[in-house]
Amino acid sequence: MLTEIITIGNELTEGRITDTNAKWLAGRFTAEGFAVARISSVRDKIEEVTTIISEAAGRSDTVILSGGLGPTSDDVTKASLCKLTGTKLVTDKKVLEHIRKMLKGRGLPMNENNRRQSEIPDGTRAIHNPLGTAPGIWLEYNGRVIVAMPGVPFELEHMTGSEVIPRLKERFGTTGYYSRTVMTSGSFEAMLAEILAGFEKELPPEVNLAYLPSPGVIKLHLSASAGTQNEAREMVDNQVDKLSREIPQYITAYDDEPLEMTVGRLLKESGKSLCTAESCTGGKISSMIVSVSGSSVYYKGGVVAYSNRLKTGLLGIDSAVLEKHGAVSRETAEEMAINACRITEADYSVAVTGIAGPDGGTPGKPVGTVCIAVNSPSGCISEIHRFGDNRERNILRASTAALNMLRKRLLF
Ligand code: ATP
Ligand code: MG
Repeated sequence: MLTEIITIGNELTEGRITDTNAKWLAGRFTAEGFAVARISSVRDKIEEVTTIISEAAGRSDTVILSGGLGPTSDDVTKASLCKLTGTKLVTDKKVLEHIRKMLKGRGLPMNENNRRQSEIPDGTRAIHNPLGTAPGIWLEYNGRVIVAMPGVPFELEHMTGSEVIPRLKERFGTTGYYSRTVMTSGSFEAMLAEILAGFEKELPPEVNLAYLPSPGVIKLHLSASAGTQNEAREMVDNQVDKLSREIPQYITAYDDEPLEMTVGRLLKESGKSLCTAESCTGGKISSMIVSVSGSSVYYKGGVVAYSNRLKTGLLGIDSAVLEKHGAVSRETAEEMAINACRITEADYSVAVTGIAGPDGGTPGKPVGTVCIAVNSPSGCISEIHRFGDNRERNILRASTAALNMLRKRLLF
């Protein structure tokens, strides 16, 4: 069952308002098990609106329209539906009565514009709008369903939930939808896609896999549409189980749990504490950790020691180490991590030192070189990474890599 969403209005195509209706409708229809194939916007011109509806109805089972249902001359949705079907507008008595009651309740007289709101294209059904005067319109067209709703967001949202979704489910048979997001870290998209090529090939046709990459983290979104939600859930859960056997080394959590939350949960469960010592990430790791509510239970705090002077002065790094190996070295990162634990009496620490770029690289240590150390009761370990040349992304990738390293240390 394919759905298309068309939002109508000059204020959309001229960039005057944000198309929140399209976003809301897409989310709601997807969650209800209706696959949204396309979203388009069109200006208030009868010919253009008619053409786009006709095209959409040529390829999708359901076409959802938003806006242009009002009584003013710039509202052309009803006229477009008339043009599409070769019909005229006729008054719907029930709608007229509803409008009369609504106006009376507000102490307003009925005028010609209000009366015109009770007109719908002949052969269509009005959809009750308890929150406004413009009714929605339900049109059966060549085996497809076209639904027009008012553009006012709260009217559209209410009508979708109370009338449109239930009627569509009845019309097309119930559909169930379910999705889960598996969190991964430590790989990149092309690499993960290669590893999962076989898994993807064997996916049942009802299940869809999407890669959602961000620096250092790739979310795998698995979704299914089936006869019922339970069937869809079983299909998705089976694939998630399979995924957990295919790439256990990259999965950090299930159900959209960010890395900082996973780490926080593990620290809480083990009753251990954490501190940080950051250079090139400038406090990013600390900020990620404290974004989780309740982090004060396990996070003692951290130091941003950007200059060598602060690395020696605040963290007690041996200046001989800095001189011999440089600020960006595994040796310096390890000393930062060990000393941070000693100073704060935390059980675990992460330390990061690197060259975020775009300047400051050398042939031996190019931009994107980042050293990360994790100190724990079982000793200090370190890694050297070579990220790219984008400063912002390097900071994010270094921060997620550090948290992922800590996560593994907490688990194994
Ligand atoms: P009305 O009867 O109020 O005229 P209508 O169906 O004609 O309703 P529009 O005139 O297109 O709808 O829009 C009404 C209001 O809803 C506008 O003020 C606009 O800000 C808002 N709106 C319309 N379309 C969208 C959209 N796609 N996303 C968010 N807001 C919208
Ligand atoms: Mg209007």
